Amino acid sequence: MASGRNGFPRGPNLRNSSSFKSKLPPSSAVRRSSPGALGAGADAVSGRVRVAVRLRPQNAEELEADADFADCVELQPELKRLKLRKNNWDSDTYEFDEVLTEYASQKRVYEVVAKPVVESVLEGYNGTVMAYGQTGSGKTYTLGRLGDEDTSARGIMVRSLEDIFSNISQETDTVTVSYLQLYMETIQDLLNPANDNISIVEDQKTGDVSLPGATVVEIRDQQSFVELLRIGEAHRFAANTKLNTESSRSHAFLMVQVRRSVLGRENDFTSEHDVSSNGVNNFKPPIIRKGKLVVVDLAGSERIHKSGSEGHMLEEAKSINLSLSALGKCINALAENSAHVPVRDSKLTRLLKDSFGGTSRTSLVITIGPSPRHRAETASTILFGQRAMKVENMLKIKEEFDYKSLSKRLEIQIEKLTAENERLQKACEDEVERIKLEAQKQISEAERDCAEALKEEKMKCQMDYMESIKQLEEKWMLNQTKHASNGFIGTSHAAEGGMPSGNDEVSELKKLLQNEVQQRKAAELEIKNLKDCLLKSMKPELAGGNADIFNLQKMLEEESQQRKKLEEEVIVLRHQLSQLTLEASQTTSCPDRSRTGNGFVGLDSVSSLRHLQFKDASDGERPSISNLHEKVGLHKILSLLESDDPNVRIHAVKVVANLAAEEANQEKIVEAGGLSSLLMLLRSYEDETIRRIAAGAVANLAMNEFNQELIMAQGGICLLAMTASDAEDPQTLRMVAGAVANLCGNDKLQTRLRSEGGIKALLGMVRSRHPDVLSQVARGIANFAKCESRAATQAFANLGTKHGRSLLIEDGALPWIVQNANNEASLIRRHVELALCHLAQHEVNAKDLISGGALWELVRISRDCSRDDIRALACRTLTSSPTFVAELRRLRIEV
Ligand code: ADP
Ligand code: MG
Repeated sequence: MASGRNGFPRGPNLRNSSSFKSKLPPSSAVRRSSPGALGAGADAVSGRVRVAVRLRPQNAEELEADADFADCVELQPELKRLKLRKNNWDSDTYEFDEVLTEYASQKRVYEVVAKPVVESVLEGYNGTVMAYGQTGSGKTYTLGRLGDEDTSARGIMVRSLEDIFSNISQETDTVTVSYLQLYMETIQDLLNPANDNISIVEDQKTGDVSLPGATVVEIRDQQSFVELLRIGEAHRFAANTKLNTESSRSHAFLMVQVRRSVLGRENDFTSEHDVSSNGVNNFKPPIIRKGKLVVVDLAGSERIHKSGSEGHMLEEAKSINLSLSALGKCINALAENSAHVPVRDSKLTRLLKDSFGGTSRTSLVITIGPSPRHRAETASTILFGQRAMKVENMLKIKEEFDYKSLSKRLEIQIEKLTAENERLQKACEDEVERIKLEAQKQISEAERDCAEALKEEKMKCQMDYMESIKQLEEKWMLNQTKHASNGFIGTSHAAEGGMPSGNDEVSELKKLLQNEVQQRKAAELEIKNLKDCLLKSMKPELAGGNADIFNLQKMLEEESQQRKKLEEEVIVLRHQLSQLTLEASQTTSCPDRSRTGNGFVGLDSVSSLRHLQFKDASDGERPSISNLHEKVGLHKILSLLESDDPNVRIHAVKVVANLAAEEANQEKIVEAGGLSSLLMLLRSYEDETIRRIAAGAVANLAMNEFNQELIMAQGGICLLAMTASDAEDPQTLRMVAGAVANLCGNDKLQTRLRSEGGIKALLGMVRSRHPDVLSQVARGIANFAKCESRAATQAFANLGTKHGRSLLIEDGALPWIVQNANNEASLIRRHVELALCHLAQHEVNAKDLISGGALWELVRISRDCSRDDIRALACRTLTSSPTFVAELRRLRIEV
């Protein structure tokens, strides 16, 4: 027994150390007591059961009863020694881990006995604090005091929980409590007394002992724990009363499970907020540490030795004996490293399996009283403590992965991600749809633009192509002509370029021209001389015939009388005329309608030239003129046209011209021989005005088909042609051209008109460049071409004969036509376009049109002409003529 005297501290526990893996012990106490564990393993560390002895102060009864006796124990706290008196002269000395005197405060007891255990529990180890001692020695005082009135009296249970609560996180950690008592091998639930037969379940694998039937209450604060303890104590008291027993006969177990989420705070699902950056690797399950603190208030140890007398007490004593002696046996076996530890002998040892020889950090407080009367009990208690100090536990951290929480969190995460994914997918689909629509829109726009641009480009290309082909053709033609004229000069010159030979030609032509001019001048001079000679030779002849002279003088007298009469009439007429002229000049302030008002809008030959009128003879005059001719008589007015007086002639012609502007007068004028007189006036070179007015009158008369024939019959075309070549005034030319243009519209007169120089006269007038003149020329050409075309068609239809080449082409009108086919003035352009179309209708003209460059214009007309009918005509012509079709194919031009 005395061997325990120096049982502390001990060396390394060789039995266990070999199996240890390196891990720092949870507290310095462990390190100190079991240095062998250092640097060994990771899983477990050696942790000896620590034992403190606490001496209760003498109570009132002892003070009295033991007054004459010395205490049986003597404490040496600074040496952590206890002396147990054997007799008056001898004592045994024991060392403990802690020696707590009767003056030790509850606080100090807690710090020495329980605090290291509580700290271990907070770190995830199991921990046991157990009190062992005789009834009345202060076990309950040490463990279970609530300290309601005096907080300094609070026992280990209350202080442990206080410590736990101040060290855990309310968010991630939980504390659950069960409170039970073991009485006669029956486990009763102190939190639910009805639950009075709780069975122990052992995990075969881990050896863990649990009580699944016990009430587990989660507590969140100290106050609710104290309440729970109070309830438990009340139930314990009630249960013991009912069983007619005492609390000292049962073992009380307080079990506190502390569940802490270790990585929960630092490492816990940052991925929730930032999944992508942390990735899947961060989905490590959180680690849960489950430390369990067991506080055991054993039944009084004296029961081991005392057997009850009979009945129930006997059974009870047996039972208490059984469990406490089983505990002693186990402690002995563990202390001696015995191979067999009889844990299964009682429920107490089964419940304490982990506390002694298990993984728990265990702290035992043995309580003793000072009284020598209980010396034996005290000695037994001390020996129990000494043996317990030899028990080595293997502290093992209780931690596990919190898969449940991980899976829950992952589920939430998955749900979140699924929702996010759905949202993104929807957004993506929407975006794709939007882009698709946008793209389709852009594609169709681009296609449209492209088609338009293509069309435009094609058109432009065709035009460019046409232009270049045209130029090449022209060059080629020019070369051909040059070759033809140069003849044998050969190709060597052509290769050098035509310029030198062209210059030679020009200078040669200039020379020729100069010669011609000189010759002409010489001829004129000769004619003048001859005229003079003729006059001189005629004079002697006149002097010779006296008889004839007498007759002549008589006739002269008659004539002069006649003349006098006429002169009187003339005076009257002149007076009337001057009055009319005055009236007319007053009305000239009215707008000049002769040019603008007439508007040669139509293209038909006869009707298109409305009454050509003059500035000095406006509408306002006509009634007076009508009156005049009624008053004076048309014959007389016409006769005045031949008056010697130029003024009279001018006035007369104005009157006649204005009369001729009225369709109603035209017939009368012609009947009275007015047409002949007007034509005669065209001969007079000296007065431009007379010629202009006369030509206008003729033009007006030429609107009528009958008159046209008459004009032709009287050689009018020659006169008009003469005037055309002599006159300079654009208005005169305009009138002449108008007259000829009207004549051009007569089918019957075509051949004659041309043979008498009508077409040449028209073409000659283009030298004027005045648009009014050009417009009449164009109209004439268009009229002529139309009649020609009509005649050709009829000839072919009636007789099947083919008409010859166009007289217009014969007379060299084509270059001008081609040049003016795109004239800026729309009126000219339209006449010329129409003329071209008529010419092009006959295959016989096709070759000339092509070589004359008219094909290009026809193509242009077929594309650009603003008049639908002309455009269609050009198109039809181009596609129906085999010559044109072939040429266009050769030039690769599409119509
Ligand atoms: P046990 O639970 O061991 O049977 P108790 O704790 O009930 O003993 O103590 C018995 C009596 O002794 C109680 O009245 C208690 O107040 C008193 N007592 C025990 N220990 C001390 C102590 N250290 N200081 C003062 N009184 C004590
Ligand atoms: Mg007690």
